[in-house]
Amino acid sequence: MRSAFFSLRAMTKKSLQTALIHSSYEAPPGFDAFPTAIHHASTVLFKDVAALRSGEWKEKNAYTYGLHGTPTTFTLEARLAEIEGGEFCLLAPSGLAAIAMIDFALLKTGDDVLLPDNVYNPNRELGRWLQQDYGITARYYDPLIGAGIAALIQPNTKLVWTEAPGSVSMEVPDLAAICKAAHDKGALVALDNTWSAGLALRGFDLGVDIIMQALTKYQSGGSDVLMGAVITRDRGVHERVATAHMRLGMGVSADDTYLVLRGLPTMKMRFEAHDSGARKVAAWLKARPEIGRVLHPAFEDCPGHENWKRDFTGAGGLFSVLFDARYTEEQTDRFVDALTLFGIGYSWGGANSLAVPYRIQAMRKEWKDGGVLVRFNIGLEDPDDLIADIERALATLRAA
Ligand SMILES: *Cc1c(COP(=O)(O)O)cnc(C)c1O
Repeated sequence: MRSAFFSLRAMTKKSLQTALIHSSYEAPPGFDAFPTAIHHASTVLFKDVAALRSGEWKEKNAYTYGLHGTPTTFTLEARLAEIEGGEFCLLAPSGLAAIAMIDFALLKTGDDVLLPDNVYNPNRELGRWLQQDYGITARYYDPLIGAGIAALIQPNTKLVWTEAPGSVSMEVPDLAAICKAAHDKGALVALDNTWSAGLALRGFDLGVDIIMQALTKYQSGGSDVLMGAVITRDRGVHERVATAHMRLGMGVSADDTYLVLRGLPTMKMRFEAHDSGARKVAAWLKARPEIGRVLHPAFEDCPGHENWKRDFTGAGGLFSVLFDARYTEEQTDRFVDALTLFGIGYSWGGANSLAVPYRIQAMRKEWKDGGVLVRFNIGLEDPDDLIADIERALATLRAA
């Protein structure tokens, strides 16, 4: 059937069933819009056999298979590399998958990996698993060790993980000193840079080799996507990570990739709004008698504050407090339950504020402070409303 309205390609006559698959319609060329197009693909088509035979996906200038990249995923990778000041980027289906991909790329049986004692807990558990089942030793260091890490680096230490700051207890490491010590002894340094979204900390400039981001947080900004990224500057390191990415079949969905791309233009403004809201709430909490300590990198009593001051240009929405040791966990749980504007749940970077109590003394053997730790993610609500909500909930501490 011919139509005068739609432009149809002339094709040989085919049955309705085949026509449902091989349509004659071709959309007119020349369409343009700001959003990146969402390309869904498992199969990627080659124009002929010669093109199929010459397919080279590694340089990201050709397409071979959906898993190896589409214009949608290449665009997000390039934009994330740009933000961090890197050269290469690979996407993973979660932040944790990105962490695992780095370990699989850079560690083999007999190697040693160092992790900060305040590292994101699933990364700590991954280290324990590598040690238990894969013949890799995983050792944990004081996040404030600085140049002293040199004494821990052995000839088989291939990777030093850093996280700036640790996303529960908030110690800020001296990244430049750790990188120097690691490089002097031939180890690579990976940074979990999720807290600063790559906006407030220039990891590569401090000597970091590999930057990992949980795009689940600020990049998405919607509390609706799980995705991770690994960004590098050195081609050799990138190629090792790319091999792990390929061998492990790390794919991400086109729709999720689009959601992250959609979040990027507003990310810096959202980050700054989270930052100013969080500092206002943290300052208010600091003056409260119920609170023992505020663990916010921009505050002087946060361990490693001097490193934050030297290296960072902002802070975002995540910080923790230690309640005064006179309050029991039962009381502070009641406080968290009494909050109405804060969800109880993990993650951060979305518009909604969150609160999570942590058993920090059980997580960290050398932890000296008493008092229950509660981590706040300050969302994009009016901070005065959040303060009023916290003030109401604090009143429950006084109830018998
Ligand atoms: C959330 C988070 C991750 C993991 O990201 P997922 O996408 O949830 O797997 C890793 N590191 C830090 C610091 C995080 O906050």
